[in-house]
Order: sequence, then structure tokens, then C-alpha cells
Amino acid sequence: LDPTQDNFSQEELDIERALRPITFDDFTGQEQVLENLKVFVQAANLRGEALDHTLFHGPPGLGKTTLAHILANELGVGIKITSGPVLDKPGDLAGLLTNLEERDVLFIDEIHRLSPIVEEYLYSAMEDYKIDIMIETGPNARTVQINLSPFTLVGATTRSGLLTAPMRARFGIQSRLQYYNNELLSTIVERSAEILKVPITNDAAIEIAGRSRGTPRICNALLRRVRDFAQIKGNGNIDLDISKFGLKALNVDAHGLDEMDNKILSTIIDKFKGGPVGITTLATAVSESAETIEEVYEPFLIQQGFIMRTPRGREVTELAYKHLGKLKGGIQEG
Ligand code: ADP
Repeated sequence: LDPTQDNFSQEELDIERALRPITFDDFTGQEQVLENLKVFVQAANLRGEALDHTLFHGPPGLGKTTLAHILANELGVGIKITSGPVLDKPGDLAGLLTNLEERDVLFIDEIHRLSPIVEEYLYSAMEDYKIDIMIETGPNARTVQINLSPFTLVGATTRSGLLTAPMRARFGIQSRLQYYNNELLSTIVERSAEILKVPITNDAAIEIAGRSRGTPRICNALLRRVRDFAQIKGNGNIDLDISKFGLKALNVDAHGLDEMDNKILSTIIDKFKGGPVGITTLATAVSESAETIEEVYEPFLIQQGFIMRTPRGREVTELAYKHLGKLKGGIQEG
């Protein structure tokens, strides 16, 4: 059982929805991003205009989807949700766009995965609120231009590096989400515990926060699993002991590192003598794309002090050796 995987059951999805903050005030952390968004939303509301197209980038689980919902809520408009891989024909996109009401939010997750043809189609929609639609087929085929209601496209991506320059240029607002520190995460754990109606001690919340890889989605997932242990193996309350017991049973790493994080560290140590190693070589060795390593895994490993970026490539730190219980210089001979 991997509590951090996304293959939640319907019940878990419902819980996730219940835990999702719905207003700016419910949302913890990302202070700078929030400060700016509040101003832009207020200004758009004041003028009665659609908010500028907004792009959120950053690793998974940090609140991009949540913020898209919050924006719609604070703008007092509806939201339609889709994702890059799902929109494979311009026709699908046209259907969504023509159904938007004035100032609505269209949220496209994984926007870096739009097909080039759909992406191009989106440009005029974003820029002039107009699209061309092909009517009839064969010799009578022609395109007609349709006016759309002014709307806000909110895009989310974990891989901003893969977004094309013309696409990126069409977003008037661009915000990068950061990993959360343990204090913010423990606030989120306590808020979620309250919604789930499970009593939790402060030190237990801090313990769960510290194992959550800087990520709200993970802290909520761990909280739900620890709640199970508390209800079945304990007295229903979450204290430090039961959370330690639960996290140990779940095999959660002391630093919250996941399987790929650990694979990256042990590969640099075992195959490349601790580095430096170039990103492409490393990517091949762990069978992951260089972009994903750079944008999803590496930022956390650097922030936590396990990896350093040097001009000659990536190097692990002492902390990485210690964490994996490995000796620097490999196995001693003799
Ligand atoms: P992303 O779209 O970046 O992958 P989500 O917006 O889906 O992330 O967030 C994952 C979960 O984490 C959400 O269900 C939400 O409950 C929780 N979450 C994210 N950010 C916050 C936050 N700042 N405060 C409280 N909960 C949050």
C-alpha cells in the first residue's frame, strides 16, 4: 500500500474534496502567490472583467487545482475542468469554450501535454475570445468565426520547461508554487483532522508533516492512514505514539522521501560514486525523463539538502549517505 499514490477510491476522492480549501482564507501558505492573486481578483471583480489567464506551475500536490477552484469561487463564477491529455481534438475544446459563461474559469491541468494542434486553437480563444469552427464537410466545408464570452484560462503544469514559449506568453499571471515547510504542513494536518473530526495532538501533526515531502496532498493522505491506525489499533485519537507506529507500518521514509527520490540518491552513490553526474545520464540510469527529475524530484532533494547542483552535474551530500546508511567511497576493502 502506497498512501501517496493517486489511485484513490471514490470514498477517498470524496474525502480529498472535503479537505480542499475553498476560499483564499482557507488556504495555508504560498503567501506571496496569494497576496498577488487577491489583488488581481479584487481588481477583476471591481471592473467586472474576466481575470487574466493564469498559469500555476510546480510539483504535484502543492495546490494548483485547489487554487483554480478558489479563483472561480472568489470571482463568483463557474469552473469547467479538463486536462491536456484528455483534449485531443480541437472539437472537444470548442465544445468546452462555447459553453463558458462570462468570466468563467476553464481549468486545464497538465497543460504542457496539449497536442500542438489543440494548443494553437487555444491561442485565438485566449487572445481575442474568438474561435473558428469548421461547419459541413466535403466541398461545402467552411469555417465560421464564433465569439466566446470573456473567460479565464487557468493552466497547471508540473513541467513548465515543456510549455511552448507562445503558450507561456499568453498567461498574464504566472505563479510558481513552493514546497511547504513543516510548520505550514502541520497547520494543514490540524485543519484536515478537524474536518475529519479526529482529535490530534500538536506533536503528532508535526510528525506527520515532517514525513510529507513538503506536500499537502501527501500530508492529507498520511493523516487518513494514521487515522485508520488510531481507530483500529488505538483509542481513536491521534497522538505521537500512534502516528509513529502508523508511519512505520506504512514504511514512510523519515524525511518523507518517496521511492524515486531514494532511487535517485542511491543511483548517484552506487553508480556514479556520489557524483557529479549529468542530468541526462542520471535520467537514463533511473529510467525517468530528465525534465521530470529536474522539475518534480530534484527541487525537493535540493531544498532538503540531499543533492547539490554543480557546474559538472548533480552531487549527493553527506546527508544523502547518512540517510541511506551508506559509506562514502563505497564498500571498504580488506
Ligand atoms: P495539484 O493540483 O498541485 O497537484 P491539488 O490542488 O490537487 O494539487 O492539492 C492536493 C490536495 O492537497 C488537495 O486536495 C487539498 O486538499 C490539499 N491542499 C493543497 N494545498 C493546500 C493548502 N495550501 N492548504 C490546505 N490544503 C491544501
